[in-house]
Amino acid sequence: MIAKVEGASLAPIKTLPDLLINQIAAGEVVERPASALKELLENSLDAGATRIEIELTAGGIKRLKVADNGSGIAFAELSLAVARHATSKISQPEDLARVVSLGFRGEALASLASVSRLSLLSRRRDETHAGRIEVAGAMIGPAEPAALAEGTIVTSEELFFNTPARRKFLKSESTEFGHCEDVVHRIALSAPHVAFTLVHNARRVLHVESQDSLARARALLGEAFAGAAVEITAEAPQFSIRGWAALPRYTRASRDQQFVFVNGRFVRDKLVAHAVRAAYADVLHGDRHPAVVLFVELPPDLVDVNVHPGKTEVRFRDAHAVHQFIARAVRKHIGRPPDEVNAPAAISWMEAIAARRPADAAMAYPVRSGQASFATEMNEPEAFYRTLFGPAGAERPANPQVAQATPARGEDMPLGHAVAQIHGVYILAQNAAGLVIVDMHAAHERILYERMKAATDAAPLASQPLLAPIPVSLGERDMELAASHAGFLLSLGFDIAEVGPSQVVVRSVPAMLPTLDVAAMLRELLDELAEHGQSDVLTAQRDEVLSTMACHAAVRANRQLTLPEMDALLRQMEATERSGQCNHGRPTWYQFGMQDLDRLFMRGR
Ligand code: ADP
Ligand code: MG
Repeated sequence: MIAKVEGASLAPIKTLPDLLINQIAAGEVVERPASALKELLENSLDAGATRIEIELTAGGIKRLKVADNGSGIAFAELSLAVARHATSKISQPEDLARVVSLGFRGEALASLASVSRLSLLSRRRDETHAGRIEVAGAMIGPAEPAALAEGTIVTSEELFFNTPARRKFLKSESTEFGHCEDVVHRIALSAPHVAFTLVHNARRVLHVESQDSLARARALLGEAFAGAAVEITAEAPQFSIRGWAALPRYTRASRDQQFVFVNGRFVRDKLVAHAVRAAYADVLHGDRHPAVVLFVELPPDLVDVNVHPGKTEVRFRDAHAVHQFIARAVRKHIGRPPDEVNAPAAISWMEAIAARRPADAAMAYPVRSGQASFATEMNEPEAFYRTLFGPAGAERPANPQVAQATPARGEDMPLGHAVAQIHGVYILAQNAAGLVIVDMHAAHERILYERMKAATDAAPLASQPLLAPIPVSLGERDMELAASHAGFLLSLGFDIAEVGPSQVVVRSVPAMLPTLDVAAMLRELLDELAEHGQSDVLTAQRDEVLSTMACHAAVRANRQLTLPEMDALLRQMEATERSGQCNHGRPTWYQFGMQDLDRLFMRGR
């Protein structure tokens, strides 16, 4: 007990010895083997290495060795490299505002040397021989000539040997190794041009040669990620972004596959994570997480990297702009139709869609007689398809389940022509590439949703007055919400009036959804308002509401459609953004190429 002892006086103030200063700093920089490893790998990248070999023993606690082929350290500077606040990366105050290297604080090696036995072996390309220096705690050995062809080898042994309290906090070997592996994955993703080898307890765990960023993502995140990934690229005057984002059919139970690098630095940032989440807002189940590898670049003076000694947190000068830029870029690209089983075919018909569809597909959808036609579609989808396709479509074939029409009538549509319907659930269509299978309900739901969004973007949803207003009893919270969000509800087409302390009447409903269970819908809406709160998330709420509406209104399974009706649905899908997934993130269709079918039947072997 130090504090609150009667009559006790504090010891005189004195400057702490270097070792203690370094150990205190190490508390922040070197928390565990993984954080030490991160610092060493960053040093190798800063030195321009193209090959990095990592050797760990016992989760990195016993031994942590990083060898690189970077620029090396001058013999005369070896002892400086392990001194605190000594760095070759910045030199004047202004530099701090424009950091372009991963390191800049000049404390990693000093910190690590204060809590482990550190050895530094290095050779600069322009020097005739290499040098070595060894440090353990306060004992700094002299720099001595040594043998090494190029680059640097840093070895740290017996981490926390002289700080037992720290050592106790370390977890099991395998846990510590797991953290080290995460670090290697992040760094390797950030630098796909660099070859990495990771050896643990003499076993080679990872080896990747220099490769492009998709190949690197495939090597580290797996084939499933790479197969679902679309390329992201966008430029703005101050920002650029590139990388890979998985289509919503590939999701994760956690954020473990979200890698965002800002100016080459892996960052764990709430704002960035939120932007990624927002990009997938319409197409992902609430409890699933998207997978992305994104490289965001912006001028170094627009981002402060000196927020935390670990340097994984950053502060953006204009956080809002960064958020918007990332969210939009990702959203735009994942809105594309998916690159399904047969990649080349899918790409060619993606191009086909792009060519025949005006710039903004959601708005470009033929808005026939405005919202009246939506209403028609919601209530009588069949009639709607008939008007869409023309009178011929009205004649139902005797047995719609059997293929009668000859598809591929001259023009070759991306999603092809319907040939059959299976159990009232799936549409089978033939296109140039082979076979397309469509989940009718999911596809229709997505189409309705995108169109409702476009319609509500343009104007509030039209209301349809009810002949007999519907009374709805509400609790205190919901009464308040209904009153305070009356304007928002009206913009969705719900006109609500208070008629008692715990009752409202609904006087009109959205024109496109006259047959809804009004009370249930209203309660669900108020729940959403209660949960999300303020008006700045109204758009997101609106989309959620629209999504619910679309799901209710979309053609239900077990509805038989005629071939022309099915074709009409296919044409709508082609014209609809994000038609590759339903509003719940399920895929709406799959492409099977002829090769896939041939493989299935072992043809041509
Ligand atoms: P910082 O990276 O913040 O400068 P460090 O303590 O990590 O601080 O490293 C101190 C200095 O040692 C660096 O500025 C760099 O000049 C040199 N250095 C460290 N590791 C390497 C390496 N692998 N290759 C070349 N130089 C290195
Ligand atoms: Mg460093």
